[in-house]
Amino acid sequence: MTSCPAAIIDARRVAGSGAPITVVDPSTEEVIAQIPEAEDALVDRAVGSARAAFDRGDWRCMSVEQRQAALRACADAIDAAADRIADVECANTGIPYAQVRNGQVVRAAGNFRFFADYIGQMAGELYEQDPNYLTYVRREPVGVAALISPWNSPLALGSMKVASAIAFGNSCVLKPAEQDPLGLTLLVETIQAALPEGVVNLLNGFGASVGDRLVRHPGIDCVSFTGGTRTGRLIMSAAGANLKPSVMELGGKSANIIFDDADFDAALDGALIGIFTNNGQQCLAGSRVLVQRGIYKQFVEAFVARANRVRVGNPRDAATEIGPLATRQHYEHVRSFVPATGDTGARIIAGGGRAKGFERGFYFQPTIAEVDSNDHRLCQDEIFGPFAALMPFDSDEDAYRIANESRFGLVGYAWSRDIERIMAAQERISAGTIWCNTPMFRDLRAPFGGFRDSGVGAEGGRAAEAFYTRQKAVSIPRRPLTLRKMGA
Ligand code: NAD
Repeated sequence: MTSCPAAIIDARRVAGSGAPITVVDPSTEEVIAQIPEAEDALVDRAVGSARAAFDRGDWRCMSVEQRQAALRACADAIDAAADRIADVECANTGIPYAQVRNGQVVRAAGNFRFFADYIGQMAGELYEQDPNYLTYVRREPVGVAALISPWNSPLALGSMKVASAIAFGNSCVLKPAEQDPLGLTLLVETIQAALPEGVVNLLNGFGASVGDRLVRHPGIDCVSFTGGTRTGRLIMSAAGANLKPSVMELGGKSANIIFDDADFDAALDGALIGIFTNNGQQCLAGSRVLVQRGIYKQFVEAFVARANRVRVGNPRDAATEIGPLATRQHYEHVRSFVPATGDTGARIIAGGGRAKGFERGFYFQPTIAEVDSNDHRLCQDEIFGPFAALMPFDSDEDAYRIANESRFGLVGYAWSRDIERIMAAQERISAGTIWCNTPMFRDLRAPFGGFRDSGVGAEGGRAAEAFYTRQKAVSIPRRPLTLRKMGA
């Protein structure tokens, strides 16, 4: 059993006394940790600790160079503990070890280094509309940030929230997802030595109890949430009722448009990566694969052949490309999308059930369904698994219409060798991020956020600066003023 505290407060592990959280290894279904969740008093203590750290000012008022050094020390600490963090994360999430160790842990350290660099380059604002005055704009930290992260990619997403919140001088309380909190808890413990006490606190617990109490807490100043759209609505309403700003990174159902003049092999590789990375549990998945009619048949054959060869296996095996889904509940959710007999609108052409050779574990086959209409629930609802919906289109106009007929708008993918087509696609697809001739690339300086039900606000360089700081305008006369002598 892995030992995991209910909370980390003032840089110390704290045991909780709330309802037990049972943490399971999804590859074996064995219980690997039992964590009593943080009770109400611990939520109050964590917020209080973050508030005290903020008010003390040793983090907020540090010179930029010192804060950069501390953020880099966090990154170095993550690097030094990388193998241990990756082991725990792999066991808890079922994500293949190589993707965790070489992807998410590296990204987690990189997030701290990115924001260390970023704060060294922040520009100020000065206005001189009236020649007798200087007006400048200070950017001050907001205060205490409540950070709520999901289970699909805990290290990458949780570390992004922590690094971006604290880089600008805030303190924070992070609540990882209850399904797989082990890696993120270890990461937060690992960085404590690099930071003043109370700058980063952590609470383990369920969303409806600990998460809800945290986002409604009068001691917090802003909320950053990544997770499902339904939860996002609840949290944004709670934050709004207290007039606290919030940023929402929510679900997706992104279209991957493959035009007939695309580099076929690259588009095929990209489509596979776009749907099957991270065990298919990714908000930015290209889960609706739209292929132009002229190459549709050839693409379907190749896509199915490759999907059937994707290696499902134990996440610790180096050869594994897809591990188990994160939880039994999620496995049942993904399976519920397999069209029922009698559903004439969709046909499974690859996978469609439990991966062969696994009696235990939440292993699901890489799955592709051919769908007749974009109205089908396979095209409208987020499955969040290794499950692609595939359909043909005729004209470019059709492709854009289908891509945009979605309540989500997180990402759009387009593949074509024709620059004019690509230029049209990046304009016509209505989503917060567009990837042209590539799957999943992120420049951390660019905003990452969704349109419509995919989110409100964004993460990334300047977007984070805008969210985690508040502006203060200061006016000072250049020389002594001759003021009106009121009442003289
Ligand atoms: P979820 O909404 O169920 O839970 C996310 C987090 O919110 C968890 O920590 C949970 O405990 C907490 N929570 C739940 N109810 C709460 C409440 N009432 N108050 C406060 N906190 C509460 O989401 P999930 O199932 O863990 O994550 C999957 C979803 O996240 C998918 O929809 C996916 O698309 C989305 N996601 C979005 C992005 C993005 O950047 N847009 C990235 C990753 C995942």
